[in-house]
Amino acid sequence: MTERPPSVDRLARELAITIDLPHGVLVEVARSAVADAPTRAADVARERAHDLEASLLRRVVNGTGVLLHTNLGRAPLSAAGDRPLNLEYDLSSGGRGSRHEPISALLAGLVGSESALVVNNNAAAVLLVVAALAEGRGVAVSRGECVEIGGGFRIPEVMERAGARLVDVGTTNRTHRDDYVRAVRDEDIALIMRIHPSNFTVSGFTADVDVADLAALGVPVVCDVGSGLLDSSASFLGGRLQPVPAWIADEPAVRDALSSGAGLVTFSGDKLLGGPQCGIIAGRADLVAACARHPLMRALRPGSQTLMSLQSVLLAHLRRDAADTVPFWAMVCTPLDDVERRAHAVAQQCGAHIARSDAAIGAGSAPGTTIDSWAVVLDGDHSSALRRHATPVITRVRDGQTLIDLRSVHPDDDAVVVDAVRATQ
Ligand SMILES: *Cc1c(COP(=O)(O)O)cnc(C)c1O
Repeated sequence: MTERPPSVDRLARELAITIDLPHGVLVEVARSAVADAPTRAADVARERAHDLEASLLRRVVNGTGVLLHTNLGRAPLSAAGDRPLNLEYDLSSGGRGSRHEPISALLAGLVGSESALVVNNNAAAVLLVVAALAEGRGVAVSRGECVEIGGGFRIPEVMERAGARLVDVGTTNRTHRDDYVRAVRDEDIALIMRIHPSNFTVSGFTADVDVADLAALGVPVVCDVGSGLLDSSASFLGGRLQPVPAWIADEPAVRDALSSGAGLVTFSGDKLLGGPQCGIIAGRADLVAACARHPLMRALRPGSQTLMSLQSVLLAHLRRDAADTVPFWAMVCTPLDDVERRAHAVAQQCGAHIARSDAAIGAGSAPGTTIDSWAVVLDGDHSSALRRHATPVITRVRDGQTLIDLRSVHPDDDAVVVDAVRATQ
């Protein structure tokens, strides 16, 4: 005689003792376990409930040394709170306000644009710009910039989806001004688009054309600068990184592109800006207005939490205190000695040792760039145990050692690292 499977309800109540998920969810897990594996229902249910709980969003400690870790939500930023905001409410008139105008004014001061618009991410920004300004017409793109950004975001496909025609200009390694001149003369070109190949570099026998030269051709130039560095002198750091490192000085910057004559720039909010996930379109007022009027805008607009976080980051940049108040820039600007001192203190408390480490920017920004750092080092691979800690600690394993790079860890989380490491011993 076979044993009867346990009752779904009893199983769900047993799971609830150790697993903090709503009763209805545990009942569903128990039901599916009883149906799929009647003889091992309790074990299967426990495993599935644990997997489900572990898959939910939670706070983690980023010990990878990759400062903008795409899988950890890029730029870390605290949430904007749980109270209503005057998102579209004009407090002086009591009437309807604009969710775009205040942010647009802040961006104008930061990057020198006439106007700006915020959407859900930079992919959406590129899509909207092309749909609003080039539907049914041609967009000239250098062959060397016809890139895939990641996550299947490919420029030729975006053009097609936006209803525009990609007009290939030049060659993979070299594109000249004359190539653009010919395209503008022979084809119906609505936009010239420059796309920053953020996540790879082309070296050797190469050539491209300055934005200023393209701007003289009489067609609006759109620069997808990607990373969203505001200006290459890093004035928003208030002089904290001196001299300005090459990876900043060489990164195409929003202000520089606009002052060279770009009609629009598009960039991500959660890369080098250090803000929330969003995409920003900044530039000429008439071009921004055309994007704002397009029907897609309603589907791509961000919510109040995003705009509030973005606003706080823009104000920090305007105050020039990003090095202290924007978490991403704080990680970049932390002096190496401070990172070493923290690594030393953590290692001492949990019997580990320390080693020099190379942190990276991440999110496809400034590829190849490293920032000097220090890591807490454990012999052996403890990455899985550290990931399973109550507050998971995400690490790197190299040459049989586990590295916890402290440049990407918030200083307040050093104590979490100590606890997590102790728990593995
Ligand atoms: C990152 C990037 C994008 C995509 O931006 P998301 O904010 O991730 O959608 C587009 N273009 C360039 C050049 C980028 O670097």
